[in-house]
Amino acid sequence: MKASRNNFHAAGFGKVAPWVDLANSEEWNGFGKLTDHLANAPWLATFLKHWNLHPLASKDVPHRKLVQLRVLLRRAAEKLAAGGSLNARELSSLNQALNVPGRQKLVQGQNGFRAEMVPLHNDWSWVIRRIAASFAEMLASREVERIKVCANSGCRWVFHDPTKARTKRWCNDRTCGNRARVRRARAAQNKPDEEIPPVPRRT
Ligand SMILES: [Zn+2]
Repeated sequence: MKASRNNFHAAGFGKVAPWVDLANSEEWNGFGKLTDHLANAPWLATFLKHWNLHPLASKDVPHRKLVQLRVLLRRAAEKLAAGGSLNARELSSLNQALNVPGRQKLVQGQNGFRAEMVPLHNDWSWVIRRIAASFAEMLASREVERIKVCANSGCRWVFHDPTKARTKRWCNDRTCGNRARVRRARAAQNKPDEEIPPVPRRT
């Protein structure tokens, strides 16, 4: 399957932060069918390009490390979305991913100055650091309560809830939300739970 730039965006990636994409790179289609995008080289290339990550030795993908970080991010998101917190081991694993040397660089652009972190070595550990850092920054900027996991148990898409009241329950109201409404209506009428056909992804 070719993951073009358009497919990447249509599938709901590239919107919030690198860590959200990594957590969702193991994707359930709403009916429990699983796709592992990390195993798809074009998806990974699009992901890196979109978030401006350019590891020098990009051919030697540390697949195991990326999967480990994905497991950690997914678990952390599920816990935080359920109102929990991270345990010492999870925090330590995150800090380990962040423990890659960089230096701060001042850049003057058209819209003023910005201070950015640049790597000492632009390798995969820097990419992993950047992904973990996008999570750390979201937590540190009091955005924890906006981290949600889709209430459709066959989907579990991690998303950022932008609503003021933070009441968004589904990754997409028209797909997962609608499915839940139809299911409730059928249950109320005592009708069997027929399969509702899959609908295109989040918008
Ligand atoms: Zn969903």
